[in-house]
Amino acid sequence: MHFAVCIKQVPDTAEVKIDPDTNTLVRAGIESMANPYDITALEEALRLKEKYGGKVSVLSMGPPQADIVLRQALSMGADQAVLLSDRAFAGADTLATSYTLSKAVETLSQVEPVDLVLCGKQAIDGDTAQTGPGIAARLGLAQFTYVIEVEWIDPEKRLLQVRRKVEGGFEVIRGPLPAMLSVELELATPRRASLPMLIDSLRAPIKIWDAGAIGASAARVGIKGSPTWVRAIASPQVHRAGPRWDAAQGVSAAVSEALDTLFSDQDFAAGFEKGWKA
Ligand SMILES: Cc1cc2nc3c(=O)[nH]c(=O)nc-3n(C[C@H](O)[C@H](O)[C@H](O)COP(=O)(O)OP(=O)(O)OC[C@H]3O[C@@H](n4cnc5c(N)ncnc54)[C@H](O)[C@@H]3O)c2cc1C
Repeated sequence: MHFAVCIKQVPDTAEVKIDPDTNTLVRAGIESMANPYDITALEEALRLKEKYGGKVSVLSMGPPQADIVLRQALSMGADQAVLLSDRAFAGADTLATSYTLSKAVETLSQVEPVDLVLCGKQAIDGDTAQTGPGIAARLGLAQFTYVIEVEWIDPEKRLLQVRRKVEGGFEVIRGPLPAMLSVELELATPRRASLPMLIDSLRAPIKIWDAGAIGASAARVGIKGSPTWVRAIASPQVHRAGPRWDAAQGVSAAVSEALDTLFSDQDFAAGFEKGWKA
C-alpha cells in the first residue's frame, strides 16, 4: 500500500491578521507549524503502514521554508517527502491548490501507484475543507470525508471501511481503493518523534518539485489558475460587554432586575409576547 499525506504549513496563531491593502495574510513575524489535522492524517497513515505494509509519502505545497513540516513528518516515520515549490504556485486558491497536489499524486503514482491520499479535514488558516475533495474529484478517487476511524482495509479486494462524523452521530461507509480520506482530530493521537529520528530528519533529503516536474499547466497553478478573488475582508466588530447583575446580593433580585431591563426594551417585549401567544 502506498499512502500519500498532504501537509500544509499554517501560521501558529489563532489570530490571523489580514493586510487591508492586499487582502492577504500577514505572515511576517508569525511562527509557522504543520496543520494539526494533517499530522493526525500522517499518524493514521503510519499506523496503516504498520498494519498493512507499504510506504508513506508526504507532500506539501509552499515556499522553501515549508520543508520544516516535511522534516517533522520524516521524524515521525514518513518514508519520503516532496515539497512543491515554485513561484508559479503562489497565490493559489483551493482550485489551483487541489490541481497542483493532484498532479503531484499522479507523479508519485508513476513510480508506485498511490492507494490512499490522506488530508486533514481542513487547514486551520484557510478553513475551506475543499482541497481534499478537490484532489479526489480530479483523480477520480472515492472520497471519505470527516473520518474518525479507519475500520479496515482489504488490500486484495481493494476495499476500505471507515467511520465518519455526521451531525448528531456517525456513519459507517465502505468503498473502493484508491481513495481519499479527510480526517478529524479524534482519529488518532500523533506520536512523538524519537531523538535519533529527529536528528536523521534534519539531514534527510527532500525532493523539490516545480510545475515542470509534475507536468502542471502554467495556466492552472498559482494566481493564474485561481478564479477566486478576495474582494474585501473584514474582522467582526468587537462590541462592548452587555450589562451585568451581581448575584452576590441575592439571585432573585439580580434575575428580577435583569428581566426588568430586558422588558424595558419594547422590541424584546413585543417579540416575547408574540412568541408566548404562538
Ligand atoms: C485569491 C486567493 C489568494 C490566495 N493567496 C494565497 C497566498 O498567496 N498564499 C497562501 O498561502 N494562501 C493563499 N490563499 C489561500 C489558499 O488558497 C488556501 O490556503 C489553499 O488553497 C488551501 O485551502 P485551505 O487553506 O482552505 O485548505 P483546506 O481545503 O481547508 O485544507 C484541507 C486539507 O488539504 C491539504 N492542503 C491544503 N493546502 C495544502 C498545501 N498547500 N500543501 C499540502 N496540503 C494542503 C491539507 O491536508 C489540509 O488539511 C489564497 C486564497 C485566495 C482565494
